[in-house]
Amino acid sequence: MIEGAAILLVGLVTGYLAGRRSRRPEPLTGAAVCSCHHPRGQHLDGKGPCQADNKQSVNGVQVFLSCPCQLYDGPEPLPQFYAPEIQP
Ligand SMILES: [Zn+2]
Ligand SMILES: [Zn+2]
Repeated sequence: MIEGAAILLVGLVTGYLAGRRSRRPEPLTGAAVCSCHHPRGQHLDGKGPCQADNKQSVNGVQVFLSCPCQLYDGPEPLPQFYAPEIQP
């Protein structure tokens, strides 16, 4: 029983380390990224609740949880680089 638990623990730790190494989004300087690490485009109307999912590992199982962020709080993109969406 103890060996099984140890193997499970090793698997969790190595998976954690591998996940840390491979999934590290580096936002560009000045990019419109919220404090939840999702870009402005993932937020409703560019400032509302976040629509993105967070990938999490629960007991070794990958699950997607909707981002709890309710308000975009990152920088506003510069006007010359931002084309507003035309609403019908
Ligand atoms: Zn988010
Ligand atoms: Zn956010």
